[in-house]
Formats: sequence, structure tokens, C-alpha cells
Amino acid sequence: MHGMDLRYSPAAERFRREIRRWLEESVPAKRRRPRFWIDRDGSEESLELRRRWEKDRFDNGFAGVDWPAEFGGRGADHEIRAVHDEEMARARAPIGPFLGLTYLGTALLGPTLLRYGSDAQKRTILPRILSGETIWCQGFSEPESGSDLAGLSTTARRDGDVLVVSGQKTWTSLARHADAMFALVRTDPQAARRRGITFLLIDLTLPGVHVRPIRQMSGSYEFGEEFFDGVRVPVDGNVVGRIDDGWAVARYLLSVERNASPISQYVEFGHELDDVIAAARHTWKDGLPAIEHPQIRTRIARCRADLELLRVRGYDAMTRTARGQDLGADASVTKLLWSRTRLAIADLGADILGVDGQLSTEPDGRHHDRLSAESDGGHLGHLRWRHLHVRGQRIAGGTAQIQRTIIARDLLDLPR
Ligand SMILES: Cc1cc2nc3c(=O)[nH]c(=O)nc-3n(C[C@H](O)[C@H](O)[C@H](O)COP(=O)(O)OP(=O)(O)OC[C@H]3O[C@@H](n4cnc5c(N)ncnc54)[C@H](O)[C@@H]3O)c2cc1C
Repeated sequence: MHGMDLRYSPAAERFRREIRRWLEESVPAKRRRPRFWIDRDGSEESLELRRRWEKDRFDNGFAGVDWPAEFGGRGADHEIRAVHDEEMARARAPIGPFLGLTYLGTALLGPTLLRYGSDAQKRTILPRILSGETIWCQGFSEPESGSDLAGLSTTARRDGDVLVVSGQKTWTSLARHADAMFALVRTDPQAARRRGITFLLIDLTLPGVHVRPIRQMSGSYEFGEEFFDGVRVPVDGNVVGRIDDGWAVARYLLSVERNASPISQYVEFGHELDDVIAAARHTWKDGLPAIEHPQIRTRIARCRADLELLRVRGYDAMTRTARGQDLGADASVTKLLWSRTRLAIADLGADILGVDGQLSTEPDGRHHDRLSAESDGGHLGHLRWRHLHVRGQRIAGGTAQIQRTIIARDLLDLPR
């Protein structure tokens, strides 16, 4: 019987050595500590370090490894991309939706422009995504429309060669640092809900844009909401696809988003599980060291198994994407799996630390510090911080309920 061969090609392994060497220098040991970025959350120092790191990454040829070279990428294949994702996460580099300043550009907007953008858009926008020159955020959700995205009401009225945007977006990741937003706006209020929506690129420095930060319960600051008051956006160069025809573009982007990057998640969440296991070695549960408690051991094993599943799905998705296939509704299964697994790991950490975890300042829960009324996320132990922070993962990119509906309808063909 033949098994599957999950080994990488020699070229991919050569690339692994190359990127590892660069990461050893560019992500020093102290920045790999779980608390490093949490302690600096919302600070200028954090922003500046991450900005410089993105530029350095681009200059060294490690940004957009699988994007065409003509747009600033490296033109590498999907195996090299997989190795890249693994190594970035292994080095605890500041990537992903929370720390990665270029994440929304590289993970979401880039692939969408590669498929739907004009040549001019690809030439001008893609290299600036990779170099970190333009930091992008995603303006889909509104106060009255999240799950029901097609109900969005931010309007863009045509006035000669500009679209005049008015309305509000909310729950915007990276809003504090973004220079520009890819947004969905309603260009034809009379049309059926899914028609008359346009995928629009908005420069957030234009007059009439106001950005307000939203603080999350973990204490994190990078979220925000934006108000548009008659913002004049030139049509030329800023509409992706055609006016009134943005729904297909949005659907494609959402599928890319839900698939995210299961390979780097596999490594990153694996670190989080390792942290939880470390805590279990120093904590008692029902008179036993937590690591010997049968229920805890079962939950650890379950998380590990789900992570392996995530890895295999990641390889599968990467292969299919490289063959030009659209993941469509299948991405919803991945989204459910990664959000559920990450939450299970965080919940396990919280259960191991118990009530003490709420007072803990140290990752292993050995030292306890009573939280004062004025203390914030910066003083919480990182397991505790994570427990609060990852709650939103069930919601971001479409809630678990919505993913289940998509799976039931589009994959299982269940009756409605
Ligand atoms: C960490 C995080 C980051 C985010 N980043 C961004 C971002 O960068 N850009 C952006 O545009 N948005 C972002 N969002 C917003 C996110 O996309 C929305 O919060 C999400 O789509 C849910 O919409 P809502 O908050 O309006 O909730 P609602 O749609 O009001 O849903 C409320 C509850 O009702 C349930 N529900 C709603 N409709 C149905 C249905 N038909 N069937 C069954 N259950 C249903 C939902 O599952 C949920 O439990 C982010 C959210 C989080 C938490």
C-alpha cells in the first residue's frame, strides 16, 4: 500500500534553510517571548518595530513568496509558500491578523486583485502591499450588517468621475494603522440586495474620513470604526471589477479569508498548546498535577489531533489553490476547524489555571498578582490574555453559525 508523501522538495528545503537564517537575525529571541508584543500592544514602539520588520522582509525577498515577480513577489511555488508559512510561525514572527501589518493586504486583498484587479491596479497596488508602504484594512461590516453582509448600507453615489461615500464601517482590524481600506459600498440602492454593491478601494487620508479606535476586552487597541461623510473617491483605479458587481469579488475574498493560512496556524496554535502544556506541568487539579489528570490529557490529545487535521487541510487547500481551483464553501470547514481548535486550546489553558489564572501574571501560573481595578490587558498572564483575545475568532470572517449554514447548504445540500 502506498502512503501519502508529505515531504517537501529539495528546493523547498533549501528555501527553508535560507529563510531560517534570515529569521534568526530578524526576529531576535526576546521578540519570540509570548508576552513581547502583548506588553507593547498599542504602542508606537510596536508599530515602528513591525513596520521596519515588514520593510526588511520585503527587501530580503521574503514577502509575497508565491506572488509573481513582476508584482514584487518571488514567483515561488506552493511548497515554498508552505515552508515560508511554517518558518514564519515557528520563529514567532509578527505575522497574522493580529500582529501582521501587511496581513490584510497580503492574505486578502492581494489574491483578490490577482484575480479581479486591472493590470494597472496590480502594478501599482501589489508591490506597495508587500513593502508595507500601504497598510490595508477591510471595510465589510457595518453596525447593522455583519452576518447579513448584503444588507450593508454605506452608499457611494456617482458624481462625474468620483464616487461620494457616506456611511459607517465597524469592527475593522488594524484600523488604527491603516492607510487605506478595501470596502463594500452600495452604488445602486434600487437594485436587488446582492446587485448594486461595489468593491471599492478608499484612501483613508481623504477629507471626510474619521477613524475611531475600539478597545477589545483583552485590552487590545488595534480595532476601530470609520465614519465616511461625503468622501470623494475617484472611480479610476479604485473600483475592483465593475461598478455594481462587487458581490462576486467579495465572495471570493471571503473564501480566501476563511481558509486563511492553516499551515502557519498549525504552527502558531501548536505553540499556544505548548504553553498550555507547560502550565499544566506546574498546576494542580483535583489533587493531581494537571498534566496527569485524565480529563486534561484527553483534551490535550484532542487539540493535538485537531491541529494535525488543520495541517492536512492546509496542504490540501494549498495544492488546490495552486491548481487554480476555487475553495468556495470548503473554506468554511477550515474556518470552523481553526477557530474551534484555537478556542479549545485557550479554554483548556483557562481551565488549567482556574480562578488563579485570572490573577496570574506569569505564563506558567506560578506567581500570582492581584489585579487592581485600574490594571489592564498588559498585566494579565498571556494565557489569560489569549483566553479573552481569541473569543472573537468564532466571529471574525463570518460567525460559526454562518459557516455551518454555508456547509449545510452548499456542501451537504441539506433541506432548508
Ligand atoms: C476579531 C474580529 C475581527 C474582525 N475584523 C473585521 C474586519 O477587519 N473587517 C470587517 O469588515 N469586519 C470584521 N469583523 C466583523 C465580523 O465580520 C462580524 O462581526 C461578523 O461577520 C458578525 O457580524 P455581526 O457582528 O454584525 O453579528 P450579527 O450578524 O448581528 O450576529 C449576531 C449573532 O446572530 C447569529 N446570526 C446572525 N445571522 C444568523 C443566521 N442567518 N443564522 C444563524 N445565526 C445567525 C450570529 O452567528 C451571531 O451569533 C471582525 C470581528 C471580530 C470579532
